[in-house]
Amino acid sequence: AKSSGRDQYRFFSSELDKLARERRTLEQALRHALERDELEMHYQPRIDARTLDVVGAEALMRWTHPELGSIPPNTFIPIAEENGLIRPLGLWAMQQACGLLQRWKAQRRPLISLSVNISASQLADPALLDFLRDFTMHSGIDPQLLELEITETQLMENAGAAGQGLSALRQLGVRFSIDDFGTGYSSLAYLKRFPIDKLKIDKSFVQDLLGDTTDLAIVRAIMALGHNLGLGVVAEGVENFAIAHQLKLLGCDELQGYHFARPMRVEALEAWIDARQQQ
Ligand code: C2E
Ligand code: CA
Ligand code: CA
Ligand code: CA
Repeated sequence: AKSSGRDQYRFFSSELDKLARERRTLEQALRHALERDELEMHYQPRIDARTLDVVGAEALMRWTHPELGSIPPNTFIPIAEENGLIRPLGLWAMQQACGLLQRWKAQRRPLISLSVNISASQLADPALLDFLRDFTMHSGIDPQLLELEITETQLMENAGAAGQGLSALRQLGVRFSIDDFGTGYSSLAYLKRFPIDKLKIDKSFVQDLLGDTTDLAIVRAIMALGHNLGLGVVAEGVENFAIAHQLKLLGCDELQGYHFARPMRVEALEAWIDARQQQ
């Protein structure tokens, strides 16, 4: 028994070594991803639940490494958050979204709001504040068209510093959404403390909405809470018509999910919007 315990330990420790090595490889590769042009933003439409018009799109980062292939954001974003790369990567993401709004404005395309995910440490990034100050002052684009999405866990784990950064950005007129709402620390006091505009219901409550009475109760409760606080409520992970319909009946404001569209490249997004508006 003793030796099999030792073998197991050896097994786990070699697995852990392997994981640690893979992580170091990714971390090294990520340091060069930006300069080597391996990153790209994709955009997933957000739909008005009542009119079914496109009202916005969420910017989601994609990384394709020449040898390792496509690496999911759930893998590389946490690495970037740990080693500080999230500030330059996040700033780049914001610049992409703002650049897109500017191009649409120049082309006289109808503007939709763009939501960009941000990590807590970006709230204290002077480069982000400078960039957004410049953009909101000089682009001639309504700052309300920019929505910054932050998870409640990120916000709560950094509540002190985050609050200041959030207020400074909010003064520029940009909007804030709480992402993955319901999955984090559920200290609701922060809703009073932070100037928030929207709640985004996590897809884990949405995907099984019709089959799970607990999920339904949670979604109802989030909807009531949000609306009583004067916040918009968005549901993510809407995968079929029945769920979209139910969310509309529950009073949800915006819907996002594979039922409408997957995240896609800018050109595909533009074509998708054009096709939808001609219907
Ligand atoms: P998130 O912000 O909660 O984004 C929603 C995720 O759900 C996206 O995964 C999206 O592709 C996926 N999704 C959308 N509709 C559906 C659906 O109907 N069904 C299912 N099953 N999934 C759906 P993605 O693109 O892999 O991103 C994962 C996470 O990585 C994001 O979760 C966000 O936390 C993070 N992330 C992505 N891009 C960025 C970024 O630029 N900055 C930061 N800080 N985080 C990012
Ligand atoms: Ca998000
Ligand atoms: Ca989510
Ligand atoms: Ca469930």
